Amino acid sequence: MEKITVNLKNRQSLLVVGECLNNLKKYLKGRRTFIITDRNLDSIYRKRFPDCPVYVVEPVEKSKTLVVVADICRWLLDRGADRGSFITGIGGGVVCDLTGFVAATYMRGIKFGFVATSLLAMVDAAIGGKNGVNLDGYKNIIGTFTQPEFVICDVDMLLSLPENEFINGMAEVIKHALIKDSSRFTHIREYNIRILARDRNEMESMVSHSARIKAGIVEMDELEHGERRKLNLGHTWGHAVEKVTGLPHGESVAIGLAFSADLSVKKGLMKEGERKRVLDLLRSYGLPTDNPSAPSDVLNALLKDKKREGGSIHFILMRGIGDVVIESIDVNELQNFALNGN
Ligand code: ADP
Ligand code: ZN
Repeated sequence: MEKITVNLKNRQSLLVVGECLNNLKKYLKGRRTFIITDRNLDSIYRKRFPDCPVYVVEPVEKSKTLVVVADICRWLLDRGADRGSFITGIGGGVVCDLTGFVAATYMRGIKFGFVATSLLAMVDAAIGGKNGVNLDGYKNIIGTFTQPEFVICDVDMLLSLPENEFINGMAEVIKHALIKDSSRFTHIREYNIRILARDRNEMESMVSHSARIKAGIVEMDELEHGERRKLNLGHTWGHAVEKVTGLPHGESVAIGLAFSADLSVKKGLMKEGERKRVLDLLRSYGLPTDNPSAPSDVLNALLKDKKREGGSIHFILMRGIGDVVIESIDVNELQNFALNGN
């Protein structure tokens, strides 16, 4: 088991990797607790939840709405939840985003924690304090920065995660290695078979490493004024791909990572051989690297979506594996590259 303390301005957050769901009770410290989970996790793991009221959401991105938030708040109110109560979200990114937002706003904020159950939640969504819901097709447009008290990653729960969800989480794991850790990148390549088999030791060390990278960046820049932007590697292009194609988040990010690698080579920042290693690794995990839609559609979605700073866009590029830079790319240059490859 590994404990990682995330030090933030107003509080500390504790990540516990390799802890067991059965021990959740210890972290609740006798507080009156309300659990939020999704239907899949409820049906697989309910027997192991502590004895608390449970609100079950549908396991889809569409659950992240203000209507669902209002319903959860009403449910809390009906059960007498007050400022001394505690909320625990048990689930993937959807449950973490909703739980964090409800906890941050119900009665102006009550304490909360997570049991992150998907790979994506363990290494990304549950860490860093961002939460939120969607509105009119805009993702996470309403939300706050509020840190959970704890994040439990029970890596044994990954065994029930559907294969496609696991692969999607790998895109974020690879992203973290690309940002900060070239030796992890090599490890993920060499231990591909064990990782895909979700070997327990591999899962524990992979989640710890990846979560630590994210936590370290969040500690430096909680509110995303600078350093934290590096976590957007692959996401500027990836979000636009996701919007246009409807591909899952991880697959879209993989395509975004490949695009970022291409652009990095074109700008003379990264060597061609390194670009190839990035693409090979993504493919070895069954992740796509080619955009299946018209580049012009992706570009339009990107330009519409981005707060443009004058005629340029912040892009995270790679100087090499484990080393990224935040670059301001001219819109015309991006257009030329995306449409004509030059
Ligand atoms: P993500 O975590 O990828 O952001 P979700 O919260 O929607 O997104 O989780 C993805 C899917 O995986 C959901 O259908 C969720 O119910 C399911 N899921 C998450 N964790 C587990 C798990 N440990 N076992 C089985 N299914 C899980
Ligand atoms: Zn992501």
